[in-house]
Amino acid sequence: KSTTVIEHPGILQPGSVIGLLGGGQLARMLVLAGHPLGFKFMVLDPDPEAPAAQVGADHLPCSFTDKNALGELTKQCDLVSYEFENVDADSVEWMEQRVDLPQGSQMLRTAQHRLREKRAIRDLGIEVTGFHEVRNLKQLEQACEAFGTVLLKTVTGGYDGKGQQRILKKSECKSAFESLHQEGTSLIAEQFQPFERELSVVVARSRSGEIRSFPVSENLHRQNILTICRIPARISGQVEKEANRISACLAEGLGLVGVMGVEMFLLPDGSLLVNEIAPRPHNSGHFTMDSCETSQFQQHLLAVSGWPLGPTHIMKPALMLNLIGDQQDKLLQNLKLLPEGAKLHLYGKKEVRPGRKMGHLNLSMENPSELLETLIKLQVWDQDSLERMLN
Ligand code: AMP
Repeated sequence: KSTTVIEHPGILQPGSVIGLLGGGQLARMLVLAGHPLGFKFMVLDPDPEAPAAQVGADHLPCSFTDKNALGELTKQCDLVSYEFENVDADSVEWMEQRVDLPQGSQMLRTAQHRLREKRAIRDLGIEVTGFHEVRNLKQLEQACEAFGTVLLKTVTGGYDGKGQQRILKKSECKSAFESLHQEGTSLIAEQFQPFERELSVVVARSRSGEIRSFPVSENLHRQNILTICRIPARISGQVEKEANRISACLAEGLGLVGVMGVEMFLLPDGSLLVNEIAPRPHNSGHFTMDSCETSQFQQHLLAVSGWPLGPTHIMKPALMLNLIGDQQDKLLQNLKLLPEGAKLHLYGKKEVRPGRKMGHLNLSMENPSELLETLIKLQVWDQDSLERMLN
């Protein structure tokens, strides 16, 4: 632990050690953003080659439930943060009693359980997708009758489209239920929303309750994985205002400290539904690294450390493209075709797997049609996705 005398309680001093639960790409970018502020890092992640462990953080290569490792983190660190929701909330609660953990275990418990999450959001007066708790096949069939098309999801552990199935008609309920159901746990049946656009806001709340949002991002998913973000989103001023109101209301109402991604569906009638929240830096906020004065990673660190938040306005329109699976290799073969000013961020993952996020590309978007032509020539992203986001 740092021996610095803390003159202003609540303000984390440079030289302090921040512990991170999870050492993936979000942790890696937190570490990189924290070095200029003088913070040191220790990450807990079972992967011996965790992306965050490659950029100057101490690494505990242990499981998230290893009490010795969690204890070590509480002893060695001045503050602990988490970079993803699938950490055991009981372990986080245990740590919270021993070390400063500003995000808290309560937020994690809410965000990592789809039913709890939807109820908490609705309790704050914010609209969510229609949903039913499903404990047996009959309840699923009832949801199917009520909603028409249903998305059946596991309540915990799912991400990037894992643990979910689309059900178009009642006869498909049985096989979907059998493939996702686990004894003793509920599933959630969500009404399928024929949305016009997917939007998200990365909102930050400081320890003293100050709230600042980054510009609304318009997001395209393929096979349930985020592929491309366009910022600012192509939405009316009214929708933008509402997206910001919703995000601020959730940040305040859920007691956020740090940054949080709020994913929303824009319906054809102009209303917004919240799909889910992620109380940590979010993939749709990666554009902030190159297009905003403060990146979402720096903002998260400022917020949890008790420092004042940074400015969030966008300096130039942005496009963020994820590099998923073999897209990183395809891009590396065509680097000379990259547009001027392109910023490449790679996560140091050796093994390529389908659906695995390997890196992302940030671009400024002064001229969308010119950019579209260049990106089509690169042959990394499919033309249809590019046209949808750039036409
Ligand atoms: P999720 O894991 O809930 O974030 O879902 C991943 C993606 O699946 C979302 O970003 C949407 O593109 C799609 N999706 C999830 N839930 C719904 C829904 N209720 N209606 C329509 N599309 C959905």
